[in-house]
Amino acid sequence: MTRSQVSPSTTADMRRDRVTEWIRPEVRALSAYHVPEVGDLIKLDAMENPYTWPSSLVDDWLETLRHVSLNRYPDPHAPCLKAALRERLGVPAGMDILLGNGSDELIQMIDMAVNGPGRVVLSPEPSFSMYRMIAAFTGMNFIGVPLNAGDFSLNMAAMREAIARHRPAVVFLSYPNNPTGNLFDERQVCELIEVCPGLVVVDEAYSSFAGRSLMDRLGEYDNLLVLRTLSKMGLAGLRLGILVGSPAWLNELDKIRLPYNINVLTQTSAEFALRHYDVLEAQAAQLRIDREHLLARMRALPGITVYPSQANFILFRVPAGKAQAIFAAIKADGVLIKSMHGANPLLADCLRVTVGAPEENAAFLTALTTALQNVLLEKNP
Ligand code: PMP
Repeated sequence: MTRSQVSPSTTADMRRDRVTEWIRPEVRALSAYHVPEVGDLIKLDAMENPYTWPSSLVDDWLETLRHVSLNRYPDPHAPCLKAALRERLGVPAGMDILLGNGSDELIQMIDMAVNGPGRVVLSPEPSFSMYRMIAAFTGMNFIGVPLNAGDFSLNMAAMREAIARHRPAVVFLSYPNNPTGNLFDERQVCELIEVCPGLVVVDEAYSSFAGRSLMDRLGEYDNLLVLRTLSKMGLAGLRLGILVGSPAWLNELDKIRLPYNINVLTQTSAEFALRHYDVLEAQAAQLRIDREHLLARMRALPGITVYPSQANFILFRVPAGKAQAIFAAIKADGVLIKSMHGANPLLADCLRVTVGAPEENAAFLTALTTALQNVLLEKNP
């Protein structure tokens, strides 16, 4: 058949066959990370900080960007930025910093570095979905160990057993845990670090809202790495993740870092933001206060179970079978939250809301109250 004789549908079939032949089955089996359309909705779905900077600070920031050389590659080692992070995050002496284009990229780098036939990534579940997804597309085996159903604490017997059986190359512990919001018991986390043959990455994406960290225990364990991000502190758009640990580990991971992964605008902007760290800290403190208000107001509503939170989001369970309807009703009232129903059996009928600015939280509470009233009325007409 000449090229002109090939029908469009045959061309499409041939392309699909070739995709099937060459794209790895584990990649084809994945669904891309879903980010919903926001439009005019109040955005309480992604654990972002709702606050921008005061306008005087925005002016000063824009001024610093004037001096950035866009024609040059960024400094691949970002020494000034690392020095500022070292001071602000309290990185212990003797520990190094590795930067990523978001902490997602650092998770990917860790998996790529330890990957090999039969190698396992392990995490309690439900937890941050990218632990499982990145393990899948880097070709590793992922083992999810269910958390305790009542309070989402670590199931230590199951964790010990899984670690002994699978000898994971890396264990990810989200501390506090996304999407459940709780902090695992620190002694249990330390026990897991002790029994793990490989790396343990304590992911402290939400540490600003918990006031707890294993950063100062890095020196005690030679298999511990601490992962941070600026995303939840108000800089999600910059994409800056920070991995802290001993040079022995980080020097190896650095070899698979793409040389210019932190662009010049991010480096300059993050340095600027860290010079004004008090602004970020004040915003986090406000969100912690507002989280407590929101928790109290939600707990007063009939028909839902509200889980404690040490993060900037709250997980709650609605009447059985009603998660989709309540999510949709809240959205129809202009507020976008996240439905966790279906993500994991322990999250059946669960929704997650990010703590926003007071007026956003109020809009969410009004929408939730109405949605619950309608659902409860339906049940008892
Ligand atoms: N870790 C956890 C526990 C998270 O919840 C998230 C984002 N939702 C990340 C890491 C990734 O954050 P980022 O890539 O924005 O640094």
